[in-house]
Amino acid sequence: MYRATVKKIKSKHGKPSRAWRQTSRKTRGALVQRALGKVTLDDFFDDFDAVQVDPAKNDGLEDCEVVLTIGTRGYRGKTGKGHGHAEMDALVQFIEDVGDIDGCVTLLRRARNKTVTCEDKSVCRGCASVLGALGFKASSAETTKYGKFMGKTQWAPVPQIRALLKAYNPNIDLSNYGG
Ligand SMILES: [Zn+2]
Repeated sequence: MYRATVKKIKSKHGKPSRAWRQTSRKTRGALVQRALGKVTLDDFFDDFDAVQVDPAKNDGLEDCEVVLTIGTRGYRGKTGKGHGHAEMDALVQFIEDVGDIDGCVTLLRRARNKTVTCEDKSVCRGCASVLGALGFKASSAETTKYGKFMGKTQWAPVPQIRALLKAYNPNIDLSNYGG
């Protein structure tokens, strides 16, 4: 599959294509990934159904509380618990509550209701992309999203969330976030 795709891309550019030869390894990788149907996490920002605002609501506010509703259960997350932003902390609460990634995937696929309530501040680009990739939407117009990363530290999903994303959608390319 991979070889066939590379061949297809090469022939599209001419053989052996100058463009291909001059393309950096990284770009070649991206071309192949896209042809294989791989998507980057950022591609899911638009999928998170929430009103996009600019500027962000309360940018710089570290403390915030978030509730993720999955089916009939609610998971409360807070900033500063070692899992990144409050949204990601809530997601880790869910993962720990269920106990295994496959169980989480099943529950997420079955849940009719997957919403995020985050009214203190806007959901940042990274968290919105994760939530969009997992099929969440804002619970109301009070929960908004912002197209940039926020906070003092660089945004990256913790290992549990990376594992969940990969199990939920194996096509998600997380290489921009450490592999
Ligand atoms: Zn965030």
